[in-house]
Amino acid sequence: MYFCIAKEEFALYGIETESIRTLDALLERAGTVTVTAHTHPDGDALGSVSALVAYLRERRGKDAVAVLPDSPAATVRFIVPDSVPLLCHDTEPEACLARIAASDLVVLLDGNGFSRTESLQEAFEASPAPIILIDHHVGPERERFRVVFSTPDVSSASELLYYILLELPDIDGDPGRLPAASARALLTGMTTDTNNFSNSVYPGTFRMAAELLNAGVDRDAVLADLYNRYRENRVRVMGYLQHESMRITPEGLAYIIATRDILDRFGAEEGETEGLVNIPLSIDRVKMSILLKEEKDHFRVSIRSKKGWSARDCATAHFHGGGHENASGGKLWWPADIDGPEEAAAYLEQVSRTCLS
Ligand code: 5GP
Ligand code: MN
Repeated sequence: MYFCIAKEEFALYGIETESIRTLDALLERAGTVTVTAHTHPDGDALGSVSALVAYLRERRGKDAVAVLPDSPAATVRFIVPDSVPLLCHDTEPEACLARIAASDLVVLLDGNGFSRTESLQEAFEASPAPIILIDHHVGPERERFRVVFSTPDVSSASELLYYILLELPDIDGDPGRLPAASARALLTGMTTDTNNFSNSVYPGTFRMAAELLNAGVDRDAVLADLYNRYRENRVRVMGYLQHESMRITPEGLAYIIATRDILDRFGAEEGETEGLVNIPLSIDRVKMSILLKEEKDHFRVSIRSKKGWSARDCATAHFHGGGHENASGGKLWWPADIDGPEEAAAYLEQVSRTCLS
């Protein structure tokens, strides 16, 4: 016996027919499309950007290119297929700026405004091209965009993009019409943002996964690429940081300060501590987990929280950041926020008392 769940029974994520019509018309008219996402692109940013660029090139015959503020970490670089042209501002600044200036359509994915593109913000804000937003963070900067697709009640930008693509006339609800590269990138992006189906999962997330598997995506290969191809350094530095550097405050904040010294000693590269911040949350008395990673004049901050405590409020109030209710991030600068890196622990102890008491 087959069970068929009608499409109408799923939340349609506020995807309005009128917005789809406008999107389709803008895509049809456009020749040179630039697709971008937030700085330090994660799997969802890379998956959604790759999926859209592959669709625009293969199905619509557009000159579509991915332009990102910085190069993907080696651990997630594979998400962008060879068929998707990618320009990164850290390695090719002039080419990125020229491309943005020459674009007649821009799409921002997985970020609620151009401030999230940091080094490219100015160039995008100067662009006269219509700009489309497809995102799942709260507080989209609506006035800046011609069309906005935005809801926080979805697993990922990849999932939202999947349902938008299904609505376009040429796909017409048939996932089998998506280019194989798009289908795979969408499943990959969703898998990373849900931490392989462990958080932010909705009925629509499972439906998307089922349909993409049915359309031929090799999920085993995706999982192998995502989770079984790390370097040994990653496991060793994560073990060391958990054993030597994790502190738990009386209020239930677990924090890890990954200093430059430790990261360099283990030869840890960009992206190799991805996932570490989630681990302390498995401890019963831990309500929130914070990972600080030392950069030149600041720490990059990752925050995760259990239900009932807001990682986003903490990121906004104490780390110039934001994000999702239970997964957020920001920065901690010196000398603006603290005198120097050695003051970080005391700052976190104070954050613990403020955010969790
Ligand atoms: P991660 O800890 O994986 O780097 O980031 C988790 C989430 O926090 C991201 O998906 C993003 O929504 C948010 N986030 C991370 N860094 C920043 C930041 O500097 N500013 C803002 N507004 N959000 C951030
Ligand atoms: Mn995302």
